[in-house]
Amino acid sequence: MKSTLTNKYKLGFFPTPMHKLENLSKKHSDYNIYIKRDDQTGLASGGNKTRKLEYLIKEAIDTNCNVVFTAGAQQSNHCRQTAAACALAGIECHIIVKGNEPEHYQGNLLLSHLLGAKIHFTNNYNKEIDYNSYIEKLEKGKKAIVVPIGGSNITGTLGYVEAMKELKLQLEEQKVKIDYLFFASSSGGTHAGIMLGMQLYNLDFELIPIKIDKDTNEKGELAEVVLNLVNEGANLLNLDRNYSLSDIPLNRNYNEADYGVLTKNEVLAVNELALTEGILLDPVYTGRAFYGMLDCLKNKKLTQKSNILFWHTGGLPALFEYAKGFK
Ligand SMILES: *Cc1c(COP(=O)(O)O)cnc(C)c1O
Repeated sequence: MKSTLTNKYKLGFFPTPMHKLENLSKKHSDYNIYIKRDDQTGLASGGNKTRKLEYLIKEAIDTNCNVVFTAGAQQSNHCRQTAAACALAGIECHIIVKGNEPEHYQGNLLLSHLLGAKIHFTNNYNKEIDYNSYIEKLEKGKKAIVVPIGGSNITGTLGYVEAMKELKLQLEEQKVKIDYLFFASSSGGTHAGIMLGMQLYNLDFELIPIKIDKDTNEKGELAEVVLNLVNEGANLLNLDRNYSLSDIPLNRNYNEADYGVLTKNEVLAVNELALTEGILLDPVYTGRAFYGMLDCLKNKKLTQKSNILFWHTGGLPALFEYAKGFK
Protein backbone atom coordinates (compact mmCIF):
# COMPACT_ATOMS: atom_id res chain seq x y z
CA MET A 1 0.00 0.00 0.00
CA LYS A 2 1.45 3.31 -1.11
CA SER A 3 0.64 5.39 1.98
CA THR A 4 2.30 2.78 4.22
CA LEU A 5 5.44 2.88 2.12
CA THR A 6 5.66 6.66 1.97
CA ASN A 7 5.17 7.17 5.72
CA LYS A 8 8.78 7.65 6.74
CA TYR A 9 11.18 10.06 8.44
CA LYS A 10 14.16 11.10 6.32
CA LEU A 11 17.44 9.90 7.79
CA GLY A 12 19.64 9.05 4.83
CA PHE A 13 20.65 10.04 1.31
CA PHE A 14 19.01 7.91 -1.36
CA PRO A 15 19.47 6.40 -3.87
CA THR A 16 22.73 4.90 -2.71
CA PRO A 17 25.17 4.28 -5.58
CA MET A 18 25.14 1.10 -7.62
CA HIS A 19 28.21 0.46 -9.73
CA LYS A 20 30.29 -2.21 -11.38
CA LEU A 21 33.34 -3.65 -9.63
CA GLU A 22 35.59 -3.38 -12.68
CA ASN A 23 38.76 -4.82 -11.22
CA LEU A 24 37.06 -7.73 -9.52
CA SER A 25 35.09 -8.50 -12.68
CA LYS A 26 38.35 -8.61 -14.64
CA LYS A 27 39.73 -11.06 -12.13
CA HIS A 28 36.67 -13.28 -12.51
CA SER A 29 36.27 -12.78 -16.23
CA ASP A 30 33.27 -15.09 -16.54
CA TYR A 31 31.14 -12.67 -14.56
CA ASN A 32 30.10 -9.03 -14.25
CA ILE A 33 30.05 -8.07 -10.60
CA TYR A 34 28.15 -5.04 -9.29
CA ILE A 35 27.75 -3.55 -5.84
CA LYS A 36 24.92 -1.64 -4.16
CA ARG A 37 26.37 0.81 -1.67
CA ASP A 38 24.19 0.86 1.42
CA ASP A 39 27.41 1.47 3.33
CA GLN A 40 26.87 5.00 1.93
CA THR A 41 23.44 5.86 3.36
CA GLY A 42 25.02 8.81 5.12
CA LEU A 43 23.77 8.29 8.68
CA ALA A 44 26.76 8.10 11.07
CA SER A 45 28.80 5.77 8.86
CA GLY A 46 25.81 4.25 7.08
CA GLY A 47 24.40 0.78 6.70
CA ASN A 48 21.20 -1.12 6.05
CA LYS A 49 19.57 -0.07 9.33
CA THR A 50 19.13 3.49 7.99
CA ARG A 51 16.39 2.33 5.62
CA LYS A 52 14.59 0.43 8.38
CA LEU A 53 14.89 3.28 10.85
CA GLU A 54 13.23 5.75 8.49
CA TYR A 55 10.02 3.76 9.10
CA LEU A 56 10.71 2.85 12.73
CA ILE A 57 11.44 6.42 13.83
CA LYS A 58 8.30 7.62 12.02
CA GLU A 59 6.31 5.03 13.95
CA ALA A 60 7.79 6.33 17.21
CA ILE A 61 6.80 9.89 16.28
CA ASP A 62 3.32 8.86 15.08
CA THR A 63 2.65 7.07 18.38
CA ASN A 64 3.92 10.02 20.45
CA CYS A 65 6.92 8.18 21.84
CA ASN A 66 9.84 10.27 23.04
CA VAL A 67 12.06 7.35 24.05
CA VAL A 68 13.37 4.44 21.94
CA PHE A 69 14.71 1.21 23.42
CA THR A 70 16.64 -1.30 21.39
CA ALA A 71 19.22 -4.02 21.96
CA GLY A 72 22.10 -5.85 20.35
CA ALA A 73 25.68 -7.01 20.58
CA GLN A 74 28.34 -4.56 21.79
CA GLN A 75 29.40 -4.07 18.17
CA SER A 76 25.83 -3.73 16.90
CA ASN A 77 25.57 -1.54 13.82
CA HIS A 78 21.85 -1.40 14.43
CA CYS A 79 22.34 0.16 17.89
CA ARG A 80 24.77 2.75 16.48
CA GLN A 81 22.39 3.67 13.66
CA THR A 82 19.47 3.86 16.09
CA ALA A 83 21.47 6.20 18.33
CA ALA A 84 22.18 8.47 15.35
CA ALA A 85 18.56 8.39 14.14
CA CYS A 86 17.32 9.32 17.61
CA ALA A 87 19.82 12.17 17.86
CA LEU A 88 18.52 13.54 14.57
CA ALA A 89 14.85 13.12 15.53
CA GLY A 90 15.29 14.47 19.06
CA ILE A 91 14.31 11.19 20.72
CA GLU A 92 15.96 9.74 23.83
CA CYS A 93 17.76 6.51 22.95
CA HIS A 94 18.48 3.57 25.26
CA ILE A 95 20.42 0.57 24.07
CA ILE A 96 20.75 -2.69 25.96
CA VAL A 97 23.93 -4.54 25.09
CA LYS A 98 25.07 -7.98 26.08
CA GLY A 99 27.98 -8.58 28.39
CA ASN A 100 30.05 -6.41 30.72
CA GLU A 101 31.11 -2.82 30.23
CA PRO A 102 34.62 -2.75 28.71
CA GLU A 103 37.28 -0.45 30.09
CA HIS A 104 37.60 1.35 26.74
CA TYR A 105 34.82 1.75 24.21
CA GLN A 106 35.67 0.89 20.60
CA GLY A 107 33.94 0.72 17.21
CA ASN A 108 30.15 0.86 17.27
CA LEU A 109 29.94 0.97 21.06
CA LEU A 110 32.07 4.11 21.11
CA LEU A 111 29.96 5.71 18.38
CA SER A 112 26.67 4.84 20.11
CA HIS A 113 27.98 6.53 23.25
CA LEU A 114 29.17 9.52 21.28
CA LEU A 115 25.76 9.80 19.60
CA GLY A 116 24.14 10.17 23.00
CA ALA A 117 22.61 6.75 23.62
CA LYS A 118 22.22 5.63 27.22
CA ILE A 119 23.92 2.24 27.25
CA HIS A 120 22.85 -0.55 29.62
CA PHE A 121 25.03 -3.65 29.95
CA THR A 122 23.22 -6.89 30.80
CA ASN A 123 26.34 -8.51 32.34
CA ASN A 124 24.72 -11.83 31.44
CA TYR A 125 24.88 -13.47 28.07
CA ASN A 126 22.01 -15.88 28.37
CA LYS A 127 19.18 -13.87 29.82
CA GLU A 128 16.41 -12.74 27.53
CA ILE A 129 16.09 -8.97 27.41
CA ASP A 130 13.43 -7.65 29.76
CA TYR A 131 12.70 -4.23 28.27
CA ASN A 132 9.98 -3.52 30.82
CA SER A 133 12.40 -3.60 33.71
CA TYR A 134 14.13 -0.62 32.10
CA ILE A 135 11.03 1.17 30.86
CA GLU A 136 9.49 1.09 34.36
CA LYS A 137 12.36 3.28 35.58
CA LEU A 138 11.68 6.14 33.14
CA GLU A 139 10.47 9.46 34.54
CA LYS A 140 6.85 10.50 34.22
CA GLY A 141 5.96 11.96 30.82
CA LYS A 142 8.26 9.66 28.94
CA LYS A 143 6.75 7.15 26.56
CA ALA A 144 8.91 4.39 25.13
CA ILE A 145 8.75 2.29 22.00
CA VAL A 146 10.78 -0.90 21.67
CA VAL A 147 12.59 -1.43 18.37
CA PRO A 148 13.48 -5.12 18.12
CA ILE A 149 17.02 -6.41 17.54
CA GLY A 150 18.13 -5.48 14.03
CA GLY A 151 14.97 -3.39 13.54
CA SER A 152 13.40 -6.48 11.98
CA ASN A 153 9.70 -6.15 12.54
CA ILE A 154 7.28 -5.43 9.72
CA THR A 155 7.75 -1.65 10.04
CA GLY A 156 11.51 -1.89 9.58
CA THR A 157 11.11 -4.40 6.77
CA LEU A 158 9.35 -1.75 4.66
CA GLY A 159 12.72 -0.03 4.25
CA TYR A 160 13.91 -2.84 2.00
CA VAL A 161 10.65 -3.08 0.10
CA GLU A 162 11.29 0.49 -1.03
CA ALA A 163 14.98 -0.22 -1.60
CA MET A 164 13.89 -2.63 -4.35
CA LYS A 165 12.04 0.12 -6.15
CA GLU A 166 15.22 2.19 -5.96
CA LEU A 167 17.25 -0.73 -7.31
CA LYS A 168 14.80 -1.36 -10.13
CA LEU A 169 15.16 2.23 -11.36
CA GLN A 170 18.96 2.03 -11.19
CA LEU A 171 19.03 -1.21 -13.14
CA GLU A 172 16.83 0.36 -15.80
CA GLU A 173 18.90 3.54 -15.96
CA GLN A 174 22.15 1.63 -16.23
CA LYS A 175 20.65 -0.97 -18.57
CA VAL A 176 21.82 -3.80 -16.37
CA LYS A 177 20.00 -7.05 -15.84
CA ILE A 178 21.18 -8.97 -12.83
CA ASP A 179 20.96 -12.73 -12.38
CA TYR A 180 22.02 -13.13 -8.76
CA LEU A 181 21.79 -10.97 -5.64
CA PHE A 182 24.03 -11.74 -2.66
CA PHE A 183 23.55 -10.20 0.79
CA ALA A 184 24.04 -10.98 4.49
CA SER A 185 20.97 -12.14 6.40
CA SER A 186 20.79 -12.14 10.18
CA SER A 187 17.67 -10.78 11.86
CA GLY A 188 15.60 -11.22 8.69
CA GLY A 189 14.21 -7.76 7.93
CA THR A 190 16.47 -6.99 4.99
CA HIS A 191 15.81 -10.43 3.55
CA ALA A 192 12.01 -10.16 3.92
CA GLY A 193 11.94 -6.63 2.51
CA ILE A 194 13.95 -7.68 -0.55
CA MET A 195 11.58 -10.60 -1.20
CA LEU A 196 8.49 -8.42 -0.82
CA GLY A 197 9.97 -5.69 -3.00
CA MET A 198 10.73 -8.20 -5.74
CA GLN A 199 7.11 -9.27 -5.72
CA LEU A 200 5.70 -5.75 -5.55
CA TYR A 201 7.94 -4.31 -8.26
CA ASN A 202 8.17 -7.37 -10.52
CA LEU A 203 11.86 -8.08 -10.23
CA ASP A 204 13.25 -11.42 -11.23
CA PHE A 205 16.65 -12.78 -10.22
CA GLU A 206 18.00 -15.42 -7.87
CA LEU A 207 18.49 -14.39 -4.26
CA ILE A 208 21.47 -15.80 -2.39
CA PRO A 209 21.08 -14.62 1.21
CA ILE A 210 24.08 -15.74 3.25
CA LYS A 211 23.12 -16.82 6.75
CA ILE A 212 25.43 -15.09 9.24
CA ASP A 213 24.39 -16.59 12.56
CA LYS A 214 25.26 -20.16 13.41
CA ASP A 215 22.30 -20.79 15.64
CA THR A 216 18.66 -20.06 15.82
CA ASN A 217 18.00 -16.68 17.42
CA GLU A 218 15.43 -15.82 20.09
CA LYS A 219 12.68 -15.56 17.49
CA GLY A 220 13.37 -18.96 15.92
CA GLU A 221 15.08 -20.29 12.83
CA LEU A 222 15.90 -17.48 10.38
CA ALA A 223 13.94 -18.93 7.46
CA GLU A 224 10.82 -19.04 9.65
CA VAL A 225 11.37 -15.49 10.87
CA VAL A 226 11.61 -14.35 7.23
CA LEU A 227 8.55 -16.41 6.32
CA ASN A 228 6.46 -14.74 9.02
CA LEU A 229 7.63 -11.30 7.94
CA VAL A 230 6.90 -11.85 4.24
CA ASN A 231 3.42 -13.14 4.95
CA GLU A 232 2.69 -10.25 7.31
CA GLY A 233 4.06 -7.87 4.68
CA ALA A 234 2.13 -9.46 1.79
CA ASN A 235 -1.03 -8.91 3.80
CA LEU A 236 -0.16 -5.31 4.68
CA LEU A 237 0.77 -4.43 1.09
CA ASN A 238 -2.22 -6.27 -0.43
CA LEU A 239 0.02 -8.59 -2.42
CA ASP A 240 -1.92 -11.55 -3.64
CA ARG A 241 0.56 -14.11 -2.43
CA ASN A 242 0.97 -16.56 0.41
CA TYR A 243 4.52 -17.77 1.01
CA SER A 244 5.60 -21.14 2.36
CA LEU A 245 8.93 -22.17 3.86
CA SER A 246 10.15 -23.60 0.56
CA ASP A 247 9.84 -20.10 -0.98
CA ILE A 248 12.49 -18.68 1.39
CA PRO A 249 16.01 -18.94 -0.09
CA LEU A 250 18.80 -19.20 2.48
CA ASN A 251 22.40 -20.24 2.03
CA ARG A 252 23.80 -21.96 5.15
CA ASN A 253 27.24 -22.81 3.78
CA TYR A 254 29.27 -20.06 5.45
CA ASN A 255 28.06 -19.84 9.05
CA GLU A 256 30.18 -22.57 10.57
CA ALA A 257 31.81 -20.10 12.97
CA ASP A 258 29.50 -18.37 15.44
CA TYR A 259 28.10 -14.87 14.97
CA GLY A 260 30.89 -12.34 15.28
CA VAL A 261 33.69 -14.92 15.22
CA LEU A 262 36.35 -13.90 12.72
CA THR A 263 37.82 -16.70 10.59
CA LYS A 264 40.30 -16.70 7.72
CA ASN A 265 37.31 -16.50 5.36
CA GLU A 266 36.15 -13.08 6.51
CA VAL A 267 39.75 -11.82 6.60
CA LEU A 268 40.24 -13.02 3.02
CA ALA A 269 37.06 -11.30 1.83
CA VAL A 270 37.78 -7.98 3.57
CA ASN A 271 41.32 -7.98 2.15
CA GLU A 272 40.17 -8.93 -1.34
CA LEU A 273 37.65 -6.10 -1.78
CA ALA A 274 39.95 -3.57 -0.10
CA LEU A 275 42.85 -4.46 -2.39
CA THR A 276 40.94 -4.77 -5.66
CA GLU A 277 38.44 -1.94 -5.33
CA GLY A 278 39.37 0.18 -2.30
CA ILE A 279 36.06 -0.65 -0.63
CA LEU A 280 35.85 -1.67 3.02
CA LEU A 281 33.67 -4.52 4.26
CA ASP A 282 32.92 -5.39 7.87
CA PRO A 283 34.14 -8.54 9.63
CA VAL A 284 30.76 -9.81 10.91
CA TYR A 285 28.22 -9.49 8.09
CA THR A 286 29.48 -8.28 4.74
CA GLY A 287 32.85 -10.01 5.16
CA ARG A 288 31.11 -13.33 5.63
CA ALA A 289 28.60 -12.76 2.81
CA PHE A 290 31.25 -11.52 0.39
CA TYR A 291 33.36 -14.58 1.14
CA GLY A 292 30.32 -16.67 0.23
CA MET A 293 30.07 -14.88 -3.09
CA LEU A 294 33.81 -15.28 -3.83
CA ASP A 295 33.57 -18.97 -3.01
CA CYS A 296 30.64 -19.41 -5.40
CA LEU A 297 32.66 -17.64 -8.12
CA LYS A 298 35.75 -19.70 -7.50
CA ASN A 299 33.85 -22.97 -7.49
CA LYS A 300 31.81 -22.07 -10.57
CA LYS A 301 28.49 -22.42 -8.76
CA LEU A 302 26.92 -19.63 -10.82
CA THR A 303 25.97 -19.60 -14.49
CA GLN A 304 28.83 -18.36 -16.69
CA LYS A 305 28.58 -14.83 -18.13
CA SER A 306 26.02 -13.90 -15.51
CA ASN A 307 25.61 -10.56 -13.77
CA ILE A 308 25.97 -10.58 -10.01
CA LEU A 309 25.04 -7.91 -7.48
CA PHE A 310 26.46 -7.76 -3.97
CA TRP A 311 24.43 -5.62 -1.56
CA HIS A 312 26.87 -3.87 0.79
CA THR A 313 24.94 -3.41 4.03
CA GLY A 314 27.56 -1.41 5.96
CA GLY A 315 29.23 -2.20 9.28
CA LEU A 316 32.61 -0.46 8.91
CA PRO A 317 32.95 0.64 12.60
CA ALA A 318 33.04 -2.97 13.79
CA LEU A 319 36.34 -3.46 11.91
CA PHE A 320 38.21 -1.53 14.56
CA GLU A 321 37.12 -3.90 17.34
CA TYR A 322 38.60 -6.74 15.26
CA ALA A 323 41.95 -5.02 14.65
CA LYS A 324 43.93 -7.97 16.05
CA GLY A 325 42.49 -10.32 13.43
CA PHE A 326 43.90 -8.24 10.58
CA LYS A 327 47.43 -7.28 11.68
C1 LIG B 1 22.19 -5.86 10.57
C2 LIG B 1 23.16 -6.05 9.47
C3 LIG B 1 22.94 -7.02 8.46
C4 LIG B 1 21.81 -7.99 8.49
O1 LIG B 1 20.57 -7.42 8.25
P1 LIG B 1 19.28 -8.10 8.86
O2 LIG B 1 18.16 -7.28 8.38
O3 LIG B 1 19.45 -8.08 10.35
O4 LIG B 1 19.21 -9.51 8.39
C5 LIG B 1 23.85 -7.10 7.42
N1 LIG B 1 24.93 -6.30 7.38
C6 LIG B 1 25.19 -5.39 8.33
C7 LIG B 1 26.42 -4.58 8.23
C8 LIG B 1 24.31 -5.23 9.41
O5 LIG B 1 24.58 -4.33 10.35
